[in-house]
Amino acid sequence: MEKMMSKIIQLDEHLTNMIAAGEVVERPSGIIKELVENSIDAQSTRIDIETLNGGLDLIGVSDNGFGMDEIDLHQAFMRHSTSKINKAQDLNHIRTLGFRGEALPSISSVSKVKAISNQHEIHLDNGVASEVRATSSNQGTSIWVSELFYKVPARLKHLRSPQYEGVRNLSVIQNLALANPHIAFSLTSDNNLVFQSSGKNDLREVFYQIYGAQYANQTVLFDHKSNDFKIFGLYVLPHYHRANRNQIHLFLNHRLIRYPLITQTLLREFRRYMPIDRYPMIVLNIETDAQLVDVNVHPSKLEVRLSKEAELLMLIEKTIHESLKQQMKSKEITHSVFEKPMTVSLFDEPLFIEEEFKSPRPLETESIDVVNEVKPSSWINVIGQHHGSYILAQDEEFLYIFDQHASMERINFEKVLVKLDKDQHDQQQLLAPYVFENRLLMMDNIDESLNRLESFGLFLEPFSQKDLILRSIPLWMNDLDPLNFVNLLLDDISKDVASLNHKKLATIACHQSVRFNESLSQLQLQHIVDQLFHCEQPYHCPHGRPTFVKVSAKNLLKVFSR
Ligand code: ADP
Ligand code: MG
Repeated sequence: MEKMMSKIIQLDEHLTNMIAAGEVVERPSGIIKELVENSIDAQSTRIDIETLNGGLDLIGVSDNGFGMDEIDLHQAFMRHSTSKINKAQDLNHIRTLGFRGEALPSISSVSKVKAISNQHEIHLDNGVASEVRATSSNQGTSIWVSELFYKVPARLKHLRSPQYEGVRNLSVIQNLALANPHIAFSLTSDNNLVFQSSGKNDLREVFYQIYGAQYANQTVLFDHKSNDFKIFGLYVLPHYHRANRNQIHLFLNHRLIRYPLITQTLLREFRRYMPIDRYPMIVLNIETDAQLVDVNVHPSKLEVRLSKEAELLMLIEKTIHESLKQQMKSKEITHSVFEKPMTVSLFDEPLFIEEEFKSPRPLETESIDVVNEVKPSSWINVIGQHHGSYILAQDEEFLYIFDQHASMERINFEKVLVKLDKDQHDQQQLLAPYVFENRLLMMDNIDESLNRLESFGLFLEPFSQKDLILRSIPLWMNDLDPLNFVNLLLDDISKDVASLNHKKLATIACHQSVRFNESLSQLQLQHIVDQLFHCEQPYHCPHGRPTFVKVSAKNLLKVFSR
């Protein structure tokens, strides 16, 4: 047989850098993140970022950190060059955000770069470096990236509109600012200042810069520690909730992380006070010894591995649980319905098992009658409330257990639907308009979204460069809290504009005025039950969860072997 030629070659440095660039610098926001993280590692107290055309034309990052000398400025752009680790053991306790020595060579392999640091300057054109020259400059480092991917058309194709990239850029800077309130950040996009933080180490101030006064005024600070962890941060009181988890910010030793188990723990606590398909707004900082963290799991360093995870989860759960309980208690009506609490324990198995219903589940227990499609004719009398969540009621034949939240959702849902059909276009002028701070900046499909909302009588207008303003509300929105409701709509519309229709609007609206874990008077409970049976479809909430179950007297007799 003919001898095969060997085919394996070692890739040259430029090619390796271009491949690495795919992982680290997929889009402008990735480049901004790497550059700003370098500035943070250089102990900067002020970092200014500018972009043109969503970063596609220019990204500039300037800091006042310790900078680089002439030799390092050249070395920094070589592959696997880093000042942050120098031996294998260093990987076990990484205290800097960077350490892989990949960002600068990757970025400069797919763009034009100009870098100035401590009176020296270097230029790179798709990986080809100039000499380092002396220049005049302040203490610190400035790096400009232009003509991104102009020699890598395949990557260029993956970039989206400048608006879309701009939204991602803003989000990266906001997260870095939340993680580092002691650093003053500014982001200028096409010569407009779109974000600024003061660097006064005030987390609430940074939160305010991102979400505006209405939310910042509703924040609660928390902090706590265990043997190995310290946690601190803030959350918005749970009567404000959002349509997605983008407002849950998790940081570990100042690094933005994804950590599904932590998110789940938070959701479990918050959903005692908010609908199960809603998300809280929260900033959670975790500090721990760098030895307990493995950040070398993922190229973009978003995912980390933690030792003593259980200890941390417990700490978070306890802290948030206690804080929420404290906050929500002061607002509770303490009217008690009964002298003695009434406990009804009918079965070994709880009636509802799932925390999150995906679809209606028929209950097929022998001793429970699943509600069928016949509305009761006789009058149903409320006998009491269980755990602030269930309404107990009876008629001649049955004992009823209503899920209070699901029932109220159904009632509100149908109310909104009726109103939407009736007075969609009649407007009520507001004395003081509502301003949705920074929401314009966060939208990448502005015209389409605003047009769609207009078709439901919701006239949001761009206001300043950043905000949206609402000067009147359609009558169908009368009973809703405009801040909460419109923010939810905007969260939702960013995913899929076309899917917004009457039903969807009503589903989003129906959570409003639903009370969680709250004691209500017998009269209020009776009112809920009565209204529910006036609904066209009383048996399920708009998400498909059952609103009530009933047990017949006959079956009770059986259960107690009478
Ligand atoms: P890494 O951050 O993983 O070390 P980079 O490629 O991002 O790798 O940066 C290479 C090196 O360049 C850094 O280790 C650091 O010494 C230096 N450097 C980069 N940016 C700055 C900056 N803004 N200020 C000071 N030094 C910097
Ligand atoms: Mg770096």
